[in-house]
Amino acid sequence: MLDRLIKESGEYKSFVTRERDNLSHAYLVLGADTAVRQIYIKMLAENILCGEKGCGECRVCQKVWAESHPDIKVLNKEEKVKVDDIEKFIDDVYLKPWESDIKLYFIDNAENLNPAVQNKLLKIYEEPPKSVVIFLLAGSQGMLLPTIVSRAKKIYLPSFSPKQIYDELVGEGYPARTAETASALSGGRFDRAYLFASDEGHSALYEACFDTLLKCKTSKDIPLFTGKAMFSKENLPATLDILEVILYDVMGIVSGSGNPLAAHNREYDLREISKGFSPGGAAMALLSLNKARRMLASYVSAAGIADTILFEILEAKYKWQ
Ligand SMILES: [Zn+2]
Repeated sequence: MLDRLIKESGEYKSFVTRERDNLSHAYLVLGADTAVRQIYIKMLAENILCGEKGCGECRVCQKVWAESHPDIKVLNKEEKVKVDDIEKFIDDVYLKPWESDIKLYFIDNAENLNPAVQNKLLKIYEEPPKSVVIFLLAGSQGMLLPTIVSRAKKIYLPSFSPKQIYDELVGEGYPARTAETASALSGGRFDRAYLFASDEGHSALYEACFDTLLKCKTSKDIPLFTGKAMFSKENLPATLDILEVILYDVMGIVSGSGNPLAAHNREYDLREISKGFSPGGAAMALLSLNKARRMLASYVSAAGIADTILFEILEAKYKWQ
């Protein structure tokens, strides 16, 4: 399960060894993956509140996972916190914990808090009660007041490789083919991987993209592919994203970057597609996808876009040897 994967991550281990017995009053948890974030919150809470640092079995741990622990509060998850709410929150912060020595507050989507709310929050940062730890959770710190950022200790969500995401999805019972597509398109994020895994259409598009790049070898072949479902108006945005993932891997292979491949168990196909591409050619092929996106936005016909993509990818291969 995902919690096991998180437990093995460097980010979690570093929190346990460096922070757990030496807690600051405020943390800023940075990372965009909302699926990992929701579990990470519980794991931090369990680790801090359980006498065994998160045994997963005691009454405290059970309450953490059931979201029924009275000393844990999560704010701003769905309903946006306003100035009035933050005043209630400040009153609550000064009340004693119910069951533990410590109270934990998690303020989700902190980048969405308006500056007035953030200013109110600063009040607590200035005179924090001893028994309180506040975690602000954000995808990035760009929209947060510098005074908030500078007073919170930064920690990061763990990130995962496509291979780890693939193994996890298969372990959770997703079919291998679905897991393969979802992990390749996830960009290392579980929230995206789950989204792709729940949509069967992506697996078919993923296969069609590989098939096209493997078989469309000369400009004479192009008309055999332009009418396919992957190039329909509805499918084109997803097709372009998938072609981008594959061509990035191709670029990684031909430039010898050694970066882990997104389509990690399609190495044979990727090497076949890579034949004839130089690093410059792969870069040109990637650029042609951006051109296709612009064409899509300006209402060029789907067939016209398909023709352009396939022609430019072939041209990128042969012109940039
Ligand atoms: Zn426990």
